[in-house]
Amino acid sequence: MSLTDQEFMRYNRHVMLDKVGEQGQIAFKQAKVLVVGMGGLGCPVSQYLVASGIGHLTIVDHDVVELSNLQRQILYSANDVGQSKALTAMQRLSTLNPLCNIRAINDSIFDIDFIKLLSDIDVVLDCTDSLKTRTFINEQCVKTKVALVSASAIQGAGQLVSFDFSKSDSPCYQCIFSAMAQPKLNCSTAGVFSPLLGVMGAMQAAHCLNMLLAESDKSLPDFTRHNRLYLFDAWGNTLNQFSVKKDPECSCCGV
Ligand SMILES: [Zn+2]
Repeated sequence: MSLTDQEFMRYNRHVMLDKVGEQGQIAFKQAKVLVVGMGGLGCPVSQYLVASGIGHLTIVDHDVVELSNLQRQILYSANDVGQSKALTAMQRLSTLNPLCNIRAINDSIFDIDFIKLLSDIDVVLDCTDSLKTRTFINEQCVKTKVALVSASAIQGAGQLVSFDFSKSDSPCYQCIFSAMAQPKLNCSTAGVFSPLLGVMGAMQAAHCLNMLLAESDKSLPDFTRHNRLYLFDAWGNTLNQFSVKKDPECSCCGV
């Protein structure tokens, strides 16, 4: 496979990068990526993925746009209040890059055949903001061995972690967070700093693209850094990282 002339022009600033090149851009074009949650993270994540030339993007969200979303959910405008997030986002994203095949699912992941959906997905990006949904996505990705990039943001604190479940020693979301007390906070009860979603969303999109590049060219150094938990503090502008390990007693991925 090669890129068309139009693709060469559109993705020129990627193709000229040593780490991407034509081969990397083709890997983006062939990739099938799923974004769950089209809120504060899902908006910038999907915009960067579509602009970058991800060939097949599926977005899932069952919510409608609310006025209080507009502070940070940058795909939507005042006229969209009351409209489906998934369908509105699909329209905007299609305008941004008509070369991408975008599918919107205006439904909860609990009401669809999620395992079947995952059977045709390379990477899942968890952009949701409830522990129940995160736990479910993690379980299903462990089961199907689909790679997962998970991010979240609350007040001024962001976190990002990714897992390659094709590797038997990979930890999972549950390994890390089951031991930690999970605050029952979300953006609607605790607030969130608007640009933090942009920072974390861009990091999540970059992580996904790095994974696809590492997969497409094994000779490249692996700069995906799986099994690391990144914590970003928007107030102090600091980023910390910690390595995370599989918990052999994990109720989700342990043997
Ligand atoms: Zn686990």
